[in-house]
Amino acid sequence: MPSSPRSQFVIKGGQVVDASGSRRADVRVRDGMIVDVAADMTTSEDEATVDASGCVVSPGLVDLHVHLREPGDEEAETVETGTRAAARGGFTAVVAMPNTRPPLDDAAVVSSVLAAGAATGLCEVVSSGCITVGRDGRELAPMGELHALGVRIFTDDGACVAHAGMMRRALEYAASLPGAIVAEHAEDDTLAAGGHMHEGAWSSRLGIPGRPSVAETVIVARDIELCAVTGTPVHFLHCSAAGTVDLVRAAKARGLPVTAEVAPHHFTLTDACCEGFDPAFKVHPPLRTDADIAALRVGLADGTIDAIATDHAPHTPESKEHPFEEAPPGMLGLETALALTLTELVEPGIVDLADALALLSWKPAAIAGLEHQGCDVAPGAVANLAVIDPAMAWQVDARRLASRARNTPFAGRTLTGKVRHTIFRGELVVVDGEATK
Ligand SMILES: [Zn+2]
Repeated sequence: MPSSPRSQFVIKGGQVVDASGSRRADVRVRDGMIVDVAADMTTSEDEATVDASGCVVSPGLVDLHVHLREPGDEEAETVETGTRAAARGGFTAVVAMPNTRPPLDDAAVVSSVLAAGAATGLCEVVSSGCITVGRDGRELAPMGELHALGVRIFTDDGACVAHAGMMRRALEYAASLPGAIVAEHAEDDTLAAGGHMHEGAWSSRLGIPGRPSVAETVIVARDIELCAVTGTPVHFLHCSAAGTVDLVRAAKARGLPVTAEVAPHHFTLTDACCEGFDPAFKVHPPLRTDADIAALRVGLADGTIDAIATDHAPHTPESKEHPFEEAPPGMLGLETALALTLTELVEPGIVDLADALALLSWKPAAIAGLEHQGCDVAPGAVANLAVIDPAMAWQVDARRLASRARNTPFAGRTLTGKVRHTIFRGELVVVDGEATK
């Protein structure tokens, strides 16, 4: 069978950056694989050239935290539109969160999400699985059955596991499942329920009930101790509070298998953004303070935080067009995450480019246990790659997003750094910023 130009090409003129370092090299891709990496390659007649001049060629990005909304809320997003947004954002793998309707607590539902992901062919869709049936904290989900389908990340995301005893049982059960980790949405409902933004000076001024930082830190502290007792890896989703960074840093110093992610909105936006009562800035856990942003940035720079994950949470315009207190929490993230990281962390010198890509690619790939993601750009690897122009300035236009939803708090912002091409399993799924299918 003759190879199509999409499956046989040389990425020319780029700077390859991966976990092994940085070097000038061209990359030959054939039939899904990287077959050669060398400087100044000559192309043969039967292969296309993909221009990467001025660009960084990186392992594809990996997002540990995405809400694809299928099944149940397809007006907001589908596996297809969500993975197209992911591909445009440079992601070659996303972990689908379980708060769908019905939730991912059942083998048939998980199988349907995996099948939908395979059908789009835009990026790898990894399914999480619920910790408890219906994510209501009362009964363990059939974790073994879900594990047999390939689920490695168990979480009730959207909801915190309220009861310490249930969390302990989940960790003990997960200990028997190879590669399994338990991921916590750390917000104690008895402290956060009824709140709509960070509890602090701004919530007082605006008269909006708050969700305090301590709602997050009490759960993080609790789960670190449960991790110590059970030995099962615990991952903290969307860490937002300065105190969480301190707790995770101390847990790592104890040698505990604890990992943590931060979402771009939490290291770029504060509670002051809620001043205009725009529901685009409503998210759980909430946008916090300058001091929290500073602590998260230190944690991202010193290795306390392992990954940048988007918590991409699409909502229809109708559902977001409500007063602040009635609107659902959540914001889009897939198409802006890389640019926010480059603009807000790399440009000011908080992390260097290689460390930023580590946070967006190979470290989250390792947390999720993804064999063919985040790999070094070398012959024999599956060709999951992002070609990134780190200097390109662009303005976020909500109308032009591939996501079905429009709820980005970054609309109108000018950012630096854009994905030029994305290669998934050797296929060019994004060329010059546009999805090819
Ligand atoms: Zn969450």
